[in-house]
Amino acid sequence: PASRLPQLGVTVFSVMSALAQQHQAVNLGQGFPDFEGDPALLDAVNDAMRAGHNQYPPMPGVPALRQAIAAKVEALYGHAYHPDTEITVTAGATQAILTALLAVVHPGDEVVVLEPAYDSYAPNIALAGGTMVPVPLDPTTFRPDFDRIRAALTPRTRALMINSPHNPSGAVWSADELRQLAALLDGTDVLVISDEVYEHMVYDGGQHQSVSRLPELAARSFVVSSFGKTYHVTGWKVGYVTAPAPLMAEFRKVHQYNVFTVNSAMQHGIAAYMRDPAPYLGLSDFYQRKRDRFRAGLAGSAFALRPCPGSYFQSVDYGGLPGHLAAMNDMDLCQWLTREIGVAAIPLSAFYTGGSAAQVIRFCFAKKDETLDLALERLKTIG
Ligand code: PMP
Ligand code: GLN
Repeated sequence: PASRLPQLGVTVFSVMSALAQQHQAVNLGQGFPDFEGDPALLDAVNDAMRAGHNQYPPMPGVPALRQAIAAKVEALYGHAYHPDTEITVTAGATQAILTALLAVVHPGDEVVVLEPAYDSYAPNIALAGGTMVPVPLDPTTFRPDFDRIRAALTPRTRALMINSPHNPSGAVWSADELRQLAALLDGTDVLVISDEVYEHMVYDGGQHQSVSRLPELAARSFVVSSFGKTYHVTGWKVGYVTAPAPLMAEFRKVHQYNVFTVNSAMQHGIAAYMRDPAPYLGLSDFYQRKRDRFRAGLAGSAFALRPCPGSYFQSVDYGGLPGHLAAMNDMDLCQWLTREIGVAAIPLSAFYTGGSAAQVIRFCFAKKDETLDLALERLKTIG
């Protein structure tokens, strides 16, 4: 029988991490910290295991964690999700996004995706039997173009997927853009899947604009986040999704049969650790320093820095590199950088279903300062 996903190879993140390892390159490709999470969080999980939280927790997640999520979202964004019926703990944002799509997309439905987009969206839509309708973000600013989004909507449009702060560009939606989206969707029954995994990484005094801030958007949205990003523990694969009760009921029908529930001790540990808001409230300052260190190191190099208002990714244009390098496509350049310079990066074309001719690559700066400094030292030898 034919493959369900005939065009698909191995994800670029696995490919580049393997290549980085093979060449002992500094891995600024796949997005994950190279430092540990807070010992207090690790202790909280350990305590939970020792306290006997080692069997199946309730299907939607440990109540204390759902309550902590509800309290955080209400305090930050002013929307009160009911922990019993409107919040589900997931195996990372990845499972939340796939499960939301499987829950609401019928075969033949269209799902509008703003490109560049995180690489799991397109195959997830395909697995749900939907048709992905890509709409380009502005190639320079990566801002949404509402006329193009409006033009992409049809009677078959089931959902729109958005992501702010944005992977790979770091772009952050403004409050006004959120209002424009609400106005555009008014009178339609289009759902929104809002990927907000980088919600606590917004720089220069900016604010994360969650769709849950606007009641008319929250009423049609799944909002997805990830403790892996927020607490420097991407390997734990714990995240969550919030949605109005009728949507969440559909979500849970799928969730109960694709994972049923998520590991118990980590949920208890995170619930206890989350009582203190300081770690997530301080995350933007923490990463802004790393962003600034990395940008300062690249300033004056042949790489042209794109703005980075959010996320832990810095995109750069490489068109100014020496001719033979500037002539490479972005995947070839990332492989060359890994092999010859010892620094791995991710090509932006991996975030476009139709490929991209732009000469832009992405570095992850969620790294120890010494890791960033070593990468910078190596990158400066180019030329
Ligand atoms: N969405 C985006 C935009 C991401 O960058 C990531 C992580 N790379 C995910 C979803 C998946 O998050 P998780 O690791 O929690 O599954
Ligand atoms: N989200 C991470 C990134 O963009 C990668 C996650 C993964 O490897 N699947 O780098």
